[in-house]
Amino acid sequence: MYLPTTRQELGELVWDALDVILVTGDSYVDSPFIGASVIGKVLLKAGYRVGIIAQPDVHSDRDISRLGEPALFWGVTGGSIDSMVANYTATKKRKKTDDLTPGGKNDRRPDRAVIVYTNLIKRFFKRTRPIVLGGIEASLRRVAHYDFWSDKIRRSILFDAKADVILYGMAERAVVELADRLREGQDISDIRGLCYIAYEKREGYFELPSYEQVVSDRNAFIDMFHAFYVNNDPLTARGLCQKQDTRYLIQNPPALYLTQRELDEVHEMDFERGQHPFYERQGKVKALETIKFSITTHRGCYGECNFCAIAVHQGRTVRWRSEASIVREAKRLVKHPDFRGYIQDVGGPTANMYGFECEKKLNHGSCQDKRCIYPEICPQMEVDHGKQIRLLRKLRKIKGVKKVFVASGIRYDLLLDDEKHGSEYLEEVVRHHVSGQMKVAPEHVEGHVLDRMGKPGVKSLLAFKRLFNKLTRAARKKQFLTYYLIAAHPGCTERDMRRLKSFASRELGINPEQVQVFTPTPSTYSSLMYYTELDPFTGEEIFVEKDTARKERQKNILIARER
Ligand code: SF4
Repeated sequence: MYLPTTRQELGELVWDALDVILVTGDSYVDSPFIGASVIGKVLLKAGYRVGIIAQPDVHSDRDISRLGEPALFWGVTGGSIDSMVANYTATKKRKKTDDLTPGGKNDRRPDRAVIVYTNLIKRFFKRTRPIVLGGIEASLRRVAHYDFWSDKIRRSILFDAKADVILYGMAERAVVELADRLREGQDISDIRGLCYIAYEKREGYFELPSYEQVVSDRNAFIDMFHAFYVNNDPLTARGLCQKQDTRYLIQNPPALYLTQRELDEVHEMDFERGQHPFYERQGKVKALETIKFSITTHRGCYGECNFCAIAVHQGRTVRWRSEASIVREAKRLVKHPDFRGYIQDVGGPTANMYGFECEKKLNHGSCQDKRCIYPEICPQMEVDHGKQIRLLRKLRKIKGVKKVFVASGIRYDLLLDDEKHGSEYLEEVVRHHVSGQMKVAPEHVEGHVLDRMGKPGVKSLLAFKRLFNKLTRAARKKQFLTYYLIAAHPGCTERDMRRLKSFASRELGINPEQVQVFTPTPSTYSSLMYYTELDPFTGEEIFVEKDTARKERQKNILIARER
C-alpha cells in the first residue's frame, strides 16, 4: 500500500489522525530505494499510522496542513539527496532538472530543504509535536561541517533548523524506538543514532573541538573530523558532543546495524514500486526508470573513497541480505504488472562487496588506524565473489526474468584480489549482466591525485581492462568499459588533467565523456581538504583549485575532442 497523503486516503483507511507525518523533498515514490518510504513503511509495520507530504508548497499551508498534526512526531528529510547537491552543479549553477520531482523540472525542492520544512511546520503549527530530522542532508550535517555553497563552516543543522532531534545514518531501528518511547512518554535522550541539543556536555562522551574553534583553526577542524569519522562504528564508537554556541550538540553512538533477517524484512515490505497517484498526476519522476525494478543486495561500504560520504552515512561494515530474500524479491518483481523481464540492477554502493566481510570488523568493529582496502587490501578481508556468482545464477533462472543487469559500480581491485572467484565473477558479469557498457570509476590516474582520493592505482585498472577485454572477446560480445573521472579534486592541477587525458587516449583508447567537476559535499575527507587546503593525513599543504572557471577548464582539458 501507499502511505496516505490526502485526507481522503485517511478516511479510506478509517484513520482519524496520524501518529507520524513525514515531510520530504522528493516526490513520494514508494520504493525500497527511497528513505522516506522505507522509514514510513517500517513505522507502519510497527503499528504506527504514518502519512507523507512530499515537496510541500513552502509559501502557504496548502500542503503542510493537509493531514493535520501528528500525535507523536514530524519526520523531516530533504529527500534522497542533499538539497544543495540536488539544486546546484559543482560550479554552483542552478540545476534545471530533478529526477525525483514530477515532470523532472527542478522547481519543487527548496535550498536547505530540511531548514525550510522545519520552519514551515513551525509557522502553521505552534508548539507542535517534536520535529525529527533524518535522511542524508541532516545526517551529514549533524556536527559542524564545511558548506561549499556558502563557503563556510556551518553549525549542526539541528541548531540552524531549530528542530528537536536528528536520527542519523540508516534509521530503521532508531525511528521505531523513538516512536515507542514517545508513545510511552519516556525519555528519548539515550537512543542510539540520535542527536539532540543540551546545555551541558554528556558524561563519558568525547568532546569535539567547538564550532568556534573549528571556524578559527583549520587544524582543529581536521582533528574534529578525524574524531567524528572514527566514532561511527556501532561496536566501538563513543558518544560525541560539540559546543556550538552556549549549548552542546550531543551525538549518541550509532544505532546497531540491522541483522540479516531485519534487513531482509525491510526490503521485503510491500512497496508499490511506483509514484503515489496524487503526485503522479503532477508528472512522472525520472528516477523510477532506474530504481523501479532494481534490487539492493547490501548496504555499507569499506571502499572509503575520500570524496564519498557513504561510509559516514551507511557505515564501513557491509551487511548483506540473504540469497533467499533477494530471490523472493525478484520473484515478486516478476509479478508486477509493469515488469517486462529486466532487472535493472542487482547491487549496492559497490556491486561486488556482497557476501563477505572481515571477521574482526564484524566482531570488534572497524580498525580506527587503517582502512580495509586502501592503499592495499587488508589480509583480514577475505575477498570472495562466490556468493555473488551463485546469486546471479539463481536470479537469471527465475521464470519471467529475461535479463539481470549489474549496473552498480564494480571495485576492480577487489575483483583482482580474489584468486579463486574473481575472474569467474567477471566472466559471469560480462556474459550475462552487462548492457553494452560496464561502469568503472578510476576517477583519475595520477598517483598523487589518487592518494588524495583514497583510490587504487592504475596497475589494477589496466589489469582489469585486459581481463574485461579478454572475457568480452571470448564471449563474442560488443561491450565496453566507461570510465568515470573527476576534475579539480583537491591536489589536482591542469597538468594532472593533461596527463590523465593522454593516459586515457593512449592506454584506454577513449575520449573521456563521463567527467564531473569535484563537488565538496558535507562531511567527506575531500571536502575537508578543499576547505583547509591541507592533507588531513599528513598535514601537508596541498594545491586546491577553487576558481570556478579554472575548474571547468580542468574538465574541458579532459573532454576536448582530439583532432
Ligand atoms: S582488520 Fe583489516 S579488513 Fe578488518 S577492519 Fe581492520 S582494516 Fe578492515
